[in-house]
Amino acid sequence: MPIAPLFSRWLPRLWRRWLLAAILLALLLLVGARVWQAYQQRVETYRHQVETALRAVSQLQAANIADWRVRHLGDAADLTNDPLLMDAVAHWAAAPTPEQTSILQERLRSLEENLRYTAAFFVDTRGVVRLDSASQARAPEPGAPQRTLDPPETQALRRALDSAQPVGVELHRSAAFAFPFFGVLAPIYGPDNGPLGAIWLVLHAQARLAPLLETLPNSNRSAESLLVRREGPWVQYLIPPRLGDAAPQDMRQIMDDAPLDVAVQAAHGERGILHGVDYRGRPVLAFASTVRDTPWILVAKVDQDEALAQAQRNEWMGMALLASLLLLLGGSAFAGWQWQARRREQALRNELQYSLHWLDSAQKAARVGYFAYYARSEEFFMSSMASAIFGLPPQERMTLRQWVAMLHPENRAEVMQVHRQALQQCSPLHTQYRIVRTCDQQERWVQVWGEYAMDPQQNTLRMTGTVQDITERRQSEEQLDRYRHTLEEQVRLDPLTQLANRRALDEALPLAWAQAQQRRRPLALLMIDIDHFKAYNDHYGHVGGDHCLQQVAAALATATQRQGELVARYGGEEFAVLLPDADSAQARVTAQRLCATVRALALEHLTSPVRHCVTISVGATCLYPENSAPAQGIALLFEQADAALYQAKNTGRDRAVLWAEQPQDATAPGP
Ligand code: GH3
Ligand code: MG
Ligand code: MG
Repeated sequence: MPIAPLFSRWLPRLWRRWLLAAILLALLLLVGARVWQAYQQRVETYRHQVETALRAVSQLQAANIADWRVRHLGDAADLTNDPLLMDAVAHWAAAPTPEQTSILQERLRSLEENLRYTAAFFVDTRGVVRLDSASQARAPEPGAPQRTLDPPETQALRRALDSAQPVGVELHRSAAFAFPFFGVLAPIYGPDNGPLGAIWLVLHAQARLAPLLETLPNSNRSAESLLVRREGPWVQYLIPPRLGDAAPQDMRQIMDDAPLDVAVQAAHGERGILHGVDYRGRPVLAFASTVRDTPWILVAKVDQDEALAQAQRNEWMGMALLASLLLLLGGSAFAGWQWQARRREQALRNELQYSLHWLDSAQKAARVGYFAYYARSEEFFMSSMASAIFGLPPQERMTLRQWVAMLHPENRAEVMQVHRQALQQCSPLHTQYRIVRTCDQQERWVQVWGEYAMDPQQNTLRMTGTVQDITERRQSEEQLDRYRHTLEEQVRLDPLTQLANRRALDEALPLAWAQAQQRRRPLALLMIDIDHFKAYNDHYGHVGGDHCLQQVAAALATATQRQGELVARYGGEEFAVLLPDADSAQARVTAQRLCATVRALALEHLTSPVRHCVTISVGATCLYPENSAPAQGIALLFEQADAALYQAKNTGRDRAVLWAEQPQDATAPGP
């Protein structure tokens, strides 16, 4: 199975995002760690480069100084072997005349100028300074103060005279000069090889050596070379340090006081790369080299900060670039994500707007609004259509009190009861009721569908539902009902007499039969026929006949008003009267009463052979339905009534005959 569907299937959306974010973070950390490592390596490389440069500088300068020293010793050797100088000294020693003195002084001056010595002297074999380049010859006058060499120079003089070689006095300080100096004693011999003394050449260390130490092949301002030597517990700076105010005044440092000082480390014998501080206490990288044939140590150093600053700057720039890139990438990803989210949100919003619009239109078209009723706050929140139905401004809330006030007084109690019940039982609500809108006092019918549920946000029961204005529907329904009712009435009504017609009678008979059967009671039927009506029509015209029919019908209806009694026009000038719960006697009485009623109308009928007014003949019968089937029973009822009517006609008309009175019918019930 491929991984991607598994991934999207088993991991919820939110977790997927977190996982992605975690992977990205891990990647970032990895890259960051790698960059930091690379940075450290680069710094190490830079340090190595700086150390290599320091080594080169230190060794070169140490070699230069050694060469410088050798060169000056060589120069001194030339003096020892110079026959002209030997002559000049010999002559001056033999006769120190002013002339000879000035010749020798001139020679000493030329040494200073040509060989760039700081000072040149002539000393005798005892170490007494006899002549310098400037002063007058110090004649060996008895009692005059004499300047003699310091012990180091004296020792050197002896060695020089003994070995007939120039001897150097290494860089040191003494009371003779205010500065550290390097001295060379070049022995001078007479023509007989007898020692005459020595030329004492003095070199100002700082003035002569400093230029050799100044050139470093890099642009570091803190780069400096120190020339030091150990003197007992001290480190002696042979050339005053160039940097800082904290340089020791006497240019000496007690070694135990500053074990980390690179000069101290060098004085302790450390060579090569040194890490520590310098005389200012600043962290430095240094390289210590011995100057050949001397106790001098050359320490080339540079401030660590400055040496690595460039590297650090470069690396920081790289890091900054990388960080900017990552930020840019992260920012772009974030912006992209935001943009996408916005777009999705916008699309959803549009969709929602569209749906709402659609819903709104649909609601308007169907005149359906939706609402939410909050049981706790007793408030309705309604859509614009719902508000319109209740005659309120769009989207207004409606309080329970407002709603109750709007209910039609006739069914207010009933509607409230239905609502209360739905709330108590949490049951669905489907109801229709009338309202009287407060805004225009219009009476409207509404249909409400609703359902209660807990609203988790508000922690209350909430009914959501729809409300529909069904006024027009109700009106047309009612109209239709009325119309149907009228139609139904008319279909069972005889239009001329406004009595029930035959159809109505046919429908009523089975019901009456069933009822009688159920109650075990009798059912009577009277058949009525107007006597000689043809003659009436002929005499008074058809319209007159109709009028007569109406009057007889009205009289019959008035005379039969007991509960359940039904008078129907059976057809033509014939009528039928159904008398539930009437036995033979009651049927006969009613029949006779009807005859009398019509007679009492006294409707003129001049062509009637019976009497000069309209009369009727009535055939009556009565049956106990008991177990008879309705169809046969009803048919028998008609049959007997018809037979009785026939009898009434045949026996002179204007009378009522009960079927039972016919002796030939054995099935007739008793009176
Ligand atoms: P009898 O006493 O034997 O009943 O005599 P009769 O003339 O009444 O009997 P017949 O059945 O021959 O006549 C009935 C007449 O009733 C015939 C018809 O013209 C008349 N008739 C039936 N229906 C109407 C009606 O709706 N209007 C009018 N004006 N006359 C009707
Ligand atoms: Mg008839
Ligand atoms: Mg008739």
